[in-house]
Amino acid sequence: MNIQEHFNVQCGCGVEAPLRTTLTNPNVGRRFLECVNYKILSDNTCKYFDWVDPPTCERGKDFGNWIVKKNMDLDKDVEDLRKQILHVKKTDTDLKGEIRVLKERENEFGQKMEQWQKRNAELRVKMEEVKAKNMSLRGGNKAMKENIELANLKVKCFTALVVILVGLGIV
Ligand SMILES: [Zn+2]
Repeated sequence: MNIQEHFNVQCGCGVEAPLRTTLTNPNVGRRFLECVNYKILSDNTCKYFDWVDPPTCERGKDFGNWIVKKNMDLDKDVEDLRKQILHVKKTDTDLKGEIRVLKERENEFGQKMEQWQKRNAELRVKMEEVKAKNMSLRGGNKAMKENIELANLKVKCFTALVVILVGLGIV
């Protein structure tokens, strides 16, 4: 069907009447010529209207209506698919955003992990230093205890000597 076909008919307004095809029952698929101003509510329209095709038979009407309905269903399917594509695109954008945030967090976590490991190593070094100091202090403590014991022994010996001297009446 060549919808662009021209019949070169001028309406009362002096312009070419365009060829149209009705998609409504009961003349579905039937072509007609109509004044361009036909649907404008004005006194200036000539109200020209003329069928190009003869009336459609019952089979043609049924088939035409089926085609129109099928076309509308397909249009709806296309619209639904467009919406689904938009939804998928939005989901894709959202997921990409989430992945970006997660990657940033992963980087931050990695940096913190490095800091913790560095800190941990520093703490271990300090702990070794403290252990070494502790060992050294323990050594000093032992020496001090030995000195105290020696001093105590000296005092005891001196006391015993004094007791002996007193006993002998020397002091
Ligand atoms: Zn007209």
